[in-house]
Amino acid sequence: MTTTSPLDWHAAFSGRAQLMKASTIRELLKLTQQPDIISFAGGLPAPELFPLDAVKQASATVIEKYGAASVQYGTTEGHLPLREWIAAQTPGITPAHVQITTGSQQGLDLLGKVLITPGDVMAVEEPTYMGALQAFQPYEPRYVGLPMDEEGIIVDALRDILQTERVKVLYTIPNFQNPTGRTMSLARRQALVELTAQHGVIVLEDDPYGKLRFSGELLPSLYELGLQYHGGDADANHVVYSSSFSKTLVPGLRDAWVQGARPIINKLVQAKQGADLHTPIFNQMIVTELLADVLPRQIEIVKAAYGARAQDMMARMREHFPAGAEYTTPDGGMFLWVTLPDGVNTTDLLPLAVERKVAYVPGTPFYANGGGENTLRLSYSNARTEQIERGIAALGATIRDALQ
Ligand code: PMP
Repeated sequence: MTTTSPLDWHAAFSGRAQLMKASTIRELLKLTQQPDIISFAGGLPAPELFPLDAVKQASATVIEKYGAASVQYGTTEGHLPLREWIAAQTPGITPAHVQITTGSQQGLDLLGKVLITPGDVMAVEEPTYMGALQAFQPYEPRYVGLPMDEEGIIVDALRDILQTERVKVLYTIPNFQNPTGRTMSLARRQALVELTAQHGVIVLEDDPYGKLRFSGELLPSLYELGLQYHGGDADANHVVYSSSFSKTLVPGLRDAWVQGARPIINKLVQAKQGADLHTPIFNQMIVTELLADVLPRQIEIVKAAYGARAQDMMARMREHFPAGAEYTTPDGGMFLWVTLPDGVNTTDLLPLAVERKVAYVPGTPFYANGGGENTLRLSYSNARTEQIERGIAALGATIRDALQ
């Protein structure tokens, strides 16, 4: 009998894999998954609003209509009728400017893969979507943080950064940002598009929440402003846009897209071939069936529900939060952001909140280069009135204790 020593997997992992870290926050949040905890931590869409009957019916229709082709291999670019519908939403672009992705999360990974060489400078909002940092990290960008205020990225600060940094890619979530719920103002959008065009910075606009506006006015996307800036030439646009059906229809079908200039789309096709050949064709066909009637109806339903939940949450915060606890006022989406006085550490506070049966996500992991120890994210999308009432009262009490 020969004996072999156990394989040292850790040493076997690539440098890239070594950069992937188990999220301490995910570990921490396991605490919050007990059934009696009211959790504002997860970023899940409300499952009771999912159009299940419509999905069931569309599945049957797809099999009848397409037969074996509905479960055959498909093209990497994606189901043409779906790409045509997406292209038709923006005058001047064609299906050749659209790549279907397996969730916009895959779009972020592929964009990182095709754009980032180790050491390239990537500018990200401070704070930003944790999952984007996770997607980009293995490609080893050097992150530069962009300060924000209520109007989004402070473009003058970016202008200063561009004096000394060669920023290659700027990643932003202009609508109802995850995690802050903030929306970039029109003036900032225009200034950002112009400044990045002048400096040759590629802008990645991540917009999964844009359709979920429950108050205020619709604003043009950076992508649309980019098109205007380049005289309507979609292949000259330095803004690459991404959106998803996860928040408007259902997340589990994993249907999303990237739209941009043809050179980047063609490169994404090559990268996606190596990743998963294509997004499940059956799912794309189901989504396509739902575009005409179900999607617009569903957007109204989700907006109304999230708008009411956000109002509820803010009303309770006014009632229960002590002076010194500040929070954003989202016009859409699923999140709001709380800033506590300096010196309060929301990671240390979480176990105390959990003792009072309420949970949130501490703010630090949303910062690419650290910071935000006194901040936290709350999600209202998946919370009902009674939970909001009890949960925010408990959180208010936890914060009051911490401030004493
Ligand atoms: N971008 C942002 C800003 C998100 O909040 C999310 C989901 N939480 C995603 C991308 C990924 O969404 P999906 O892969 O479901 O399209």
